[in-house]
Amino acid sequence: MKTSNFIFIGNHFVTDFVNTRKNVKGARTELLHDYGDLMDWLEQSGKSKFVSGNPDSLPSSRRGELFQNIMSFRDDLEQAFVDMIREKSVPTFITELINKSLKSNGGYLQIEQSEASVALARYYTTSQLFVLFLEEAALFFASIKPDNLKKCENEACILYFYDTSRNQQRRWCSMEKCGNRVKVNQHYHRKKNRIQ
Ligand SMILES: [Zn+2]
Repeated sequence: MKTSNFIFIGNHFVTDFVNTRKNVKGARTELLHDYGDLMDWLEQSGKSKFVSGNPDSLPSSRRGELFQNIMSFRDDLEQAFVDMIREKSVPTFITELINKSLKSNGGYLQIEQSEASVALARYYTTSQLFVLFLEEAALFFASIKPDNLKKCENEACILYFYDTSRNQQRRWCSMEKCGNRVKVNQHYHRKKNRIQ
């Protein structure tokens, strides 16, 4: 696996997936350039174990198509996040889009039995990979509190997270990356104002 600068601060597969692009010195920077990057990200997200079959066994045209579908879904999710933060509710365009796409194909359930437990897990063949993203999004939108989806308060940052902190006061993608920067900035401006 390539070492990468993927970001997992979103508290959910879907927020982390939207965060596969970020601002670097003011420019939107893509972290997923091709199917291989997507597979690396999926591996790091912990979900690749639910994809059965060898992802490289698909013909390259099919891989390209899957990648395009999944990336265009990421654009839809990003738009849904923007709307949701503004409207404080789950936008109907995204639920309609997900429902329509889920009608045509799905993954499959398996019972996973071990000495300690019996549990259900949902799997996807490599050609159903898009469904994994759709179902994760469906579960996300059906279970969250819209108020707790947040964009990092650093205006230069485009990362999202689902706030699961106890008092729901989380403001930044990470204190180290953005929280301190904003605080130092505010401190600097306060000092400057005092001097004037
Ligand atoms: Zn940030």
